[in-house]
Amino acid sequence: MRRTEHRHSQLLLDWYDRHLRAFPWRAPPGEKPDPYRVWLSEIMLQQTGTASVTAYFNKFTARWPDVHALAGASLDAVLTEWAGLGYYARARNLHACAKIISTGMAGNFPRDYAALLKLPGIGPYSAAAIAAIAYDMPAPVLDGNIERVVSRLHAVTAPLPGSKAELRDLSLALIDCGRPGDMAQAMMDLGATLCSPRAPDCPRCPWQNSCAAHARNIAGMLPVKQQKPQSPSHVGAIFWLARKDGAVLLRRRPEKGLLGGMMEFPGTPWRKELGDLDAYMPDSCKWRALRGTVRHVFTHFRLDLVVYTGVHSGKQSVDGIWVKPEAFDEYALPALMRKVAEHVEMTQKEAAA
Ligand code: SF4
Repeated sequence: MRRTEHRHSQLLLDWYDRHLRAFPWRAPPGEKPDPYRVWLSEIMLQQTGTASVTAYFNKFTARWPDVHALAGASLDAVLTEWAGLGYYARARNLHACAKIISTGMAGNFPRDYAALLKLPGIGPYSAAAIAAIAYDMPAPVLDGNIERVVSRLHAVTAPLPGSKAELRDLSLALIDCGRPGDMAQAMMDLGATLCSPRAPDCPRCPWQNSCAAHARNIAGMLPVKQQKPQSPSHVGAIFWLARKDGAVLLRRRPEKGLLGGMMEFPGTPWRKELGDLDAYMPDSCKWRALRGTVRHVFTHFRLDLVVYTGVHSGKQSVDGIWVKPEAFDEYALPALMRKVAEHVEMTQKEAAA
């Protein structure tokens, strides 16, 4: 390790020892981290912030305190607990990974980056974070916070994502300091607190005297990001079919694909244009379109759903299960379908007022 990197790491670790953020998945200072808790938190933290993850992490660990317990749960129970956290492929991969660790690896997570990468749901960032935090292995941890602090420390002005490899090498040089897990978490904490995207608090930063971006007064401009092309938009229709007793028709989505295995209200496929609706209506009752649409933004596209409501005629059988709205929480309904339910409830209240 070069002397400058060592100095940077030491300064930040001294700061971390005094200011580390407490999270339920972090081991208290001096205690060994539990790889199960580190893995579970890293999967939940993919695409989700710490504030939302905390409640889910506590729920999961209370119900399934170790990897064997999670592996023994049904996929449906895992999806139901996950409902609302989004990106549901994570929950399916979590369950598949727990089964592999529990039955194929006697409950022990692999210690090294390459072996972790082979497990379902563990990509390069998660593999590096788990290896570093759970086992103190030097690994190239690079999340949004670390990208920001490293690009500023070294004043890297090349735009992301092209500069990723350079930032990864710079991050690894800092992490390889004798306390890899603490160093990775220290950089995450610095990025989440002092080295914020718009207004970095440089006067309170342990790197204030050595940060190249601060010295050149360009910290707020880094990291530079290449502009993304606008995400495409899709449209679809939802058919909210209710029985006279208030129960609503739900069905399960196919196991593979977006929101796989989750529950939904029947509807059309999501496409560029709405197209023919009749073929997708679950019942031949009279359908009424609600005012407005339900908008949801996925990673790669934006979706607008128009919602039709109808009362089941009772004359024909339908595919799915009937569930009263007050019991929706017992089913793995993704955030999008919860928005649909809220939209229906709000519109019906407005109509009744
Ligand atoms: Fe970020 Fe400022 Fe610290 Fe540099 S000195 S790492 S810009 S907070």
